[in-house]
Order: sequence, then C-alpha cells, then structure tokens
Amino acid sequence: TIDKYDALNDQYIEELVSLRSFIGKPSKTKDGFQLKIYANIASAYEVANILKKDAEGVGLFRSEFIYLQSNDYPTEEMQYNYYKEVLEEMGDKEVVIRTMDIGADKKVFYFNLPYEENPAMGFRSIRICRERPEILLTQLRALYRASVSGHLSIMIPMIISEEEVIFAKELCEKAKKQLKEEGIPFDDKVKVGIMIETPAAALMSDKLAKHVDFFSIGTNDLSQYTLACDRLNANLNKHVFNPHHPAILKLIRMTIENAHKNGIICGMCGELARDPEILPFLAGLHIDELSCSAAYVLKTRKNLSQIDTKKVDLDKYTE
Ligand code: PEP
Ligand code: MG
Repeated sequence: TIDKYDALNDQYIEELVSLRSFIGKPSKTKDGFQLKIYANIASAYEVANILKKDAEGVGLFRSEFIYLQSNDYPTEEMQYNYYKEVLEEMGDKEVVIRTMDIGADKKVFYFNLPYEENPAMGFRSIRICRERPEILLTQLRALYRASVSGHLSIMIPMIISEEEVIFAKELCEKAKKQLKEEGIPFDDKVKVGIMIETPAAALMSDKLAKHVDFFSIGTNDLSQYTLACDRLNANLNKHVFNPHHPAILKLIRMTIENAHKNGIICGMCGELARDPEILPFLAGLHIDELSCSAAYVLKTRKNLSQIDTKKVDLDKYTE
C-alpha cells in the first residue's frame, strides 16, 4: 500500500512540475484560438493562491461568504473594504463579483427566510432582491465604490427572465446616480453580466444578451435544473447528475452562439469549465473565458494547448 501511494505521490509531483512550464503562457489551443482562464474564489484569502497558479482573473467571486460570516446584514462600508481588498490585490486583472446568491443551500438566519419544501426552486438570490431591493442596492453601492481600486465586473445570478435583468440594471443605475450625487467616485465602465444557470435563461439568451455585457454559464445549477436533479443529493450522482447530458450541452451551445451573435462575451464558471472531456467542445464554440478552482487553472491551460479546434465535431456532443 505504501509503495502504491508513494508512486501516486511521485506522479502527482511530476505533474505539478510539468504544469509549472505553463505559468506565464497564453491560454491557447494548438491551432491558435486564445481564451482566458480565470479562477473561482469565495473569499479574499484565496487571491494569493490563484495568482500563484497564474489565473488571468477572477471569473466568479461568490460574495455570499460576506453574508454567511456576518451576524447581521453586512454594511456598505464592510462590503466596500472587502471588495476593495480583492480588487487591489488582483491589480489590473478582471474580477467578476457575483451579487448575493443567498437562499437554497446558502441560508443566512438574519434574512428570516420562510421554511420551504423546495428551497433550490424557492425564494433565493435575485428573487429575494426584487422583494427587498435595499439589500442589493447596498451591495451595488459598495461594489461601485470599490470599482476605482481595480478592474471590476458585476454578475447577477439565478436569472430566469428579462424583467429580472431590467430590475438589476435599474438598480445599478440607481446606485451610480446616488454615488454621483454624493460626489463619490466610481468607474463608469464596469461591465454588468448575468449567470446563465437556468434552462429559461439559456433558452432566452438571445433576448437577454441585448441587456448585458457578458454571460457566464453556471453549469452546476444549469445541470440541476435541466435534469430535474438535486445537485446535493449523493444518491443521484452516479446515474442522474450527468453534466455531459446532450440537453445541457445543447443549452450551452445555444448560449455561447447567442452571446456571440449579439457581440457579447460568454464565459463559464461551473464545474464543467475544467472538464477535459468537454474542453474541445467549448474551445470549438470559441468560448471567451473559463473559470475554475485554482488547482485546475494550469491543468486546463495544458489541456487546451493539446486541442485543435478545426478537428472538433460539435454536433457529436449534442447528439
Ligand atoms: C453554478 O451554478 O454553476 C455556479 C457556478 O454557481 P454556484 O455553484 O455557486 O451555484
Ligand atoms: Mg449557481
């Protein structure tokens, strides 16, 4: 047993050493298609590690962390300091901060959310914000204030309709107007995007693209909702929760194509973004950005370097 694990350890170290040669290299396929490989984070503590792993930016900062670690609604000042720290540390690299995705598995007691039979399909995220816009407004003010400290983009999760996007965009405008009136500086060029993580959003992506600067596909929830399969249910892992299901890949293809048709960027921040089996499909569709956990950044860059997009048969994935 010791010999077996020693061999595995040697293999692991060998791989880490070989991956180091990809530090500082562009994220490119064999035939020259270049995209960006970002990292997902859930706290400011992870920034040093993702920079070490040569992530080209942050594709998903799960801001729920700030709410989960507080005993009450985090104030604008507290959030501002937090976002500023991350943006400063990342320098000129883009940081996509997702607005609060509270509810479902991320329960916060002081929100006093009602008991629900199906919380994953319940009162969560943007749905809470529409009822209680002051929560999102506080977060947006903190984000725009922090925007002068780096390269910020704002991302809204759990979208199912145009109305939700219009609501979120109006609140962004309100936050900026307030700051302007108060003489507080902010970056007016901050991009606003949405997560495509429901089948409704993917199917409506042509329309939704007209309202936003970018999409990021959240394949964890997109798989859950497309397959009617609770992503946290371990009994379903083996046969039902299959993110390679052609229905999901069709929705992904539709989303990327609609984004590009409308001249906006499309990235991916769910687990599928680091999946070597699906990487040729995503590169073949010319996805603009992939965001995964730090440990997979260099591995994905290496995998990408071995792909020839001209040889990818896209239809094979969605059959
Ligand atoms: C997703 O749903 O794919 C995603 C990236 O968001 P989260 O895992 O935080 O729900
Ligand atoms: Mg999600």
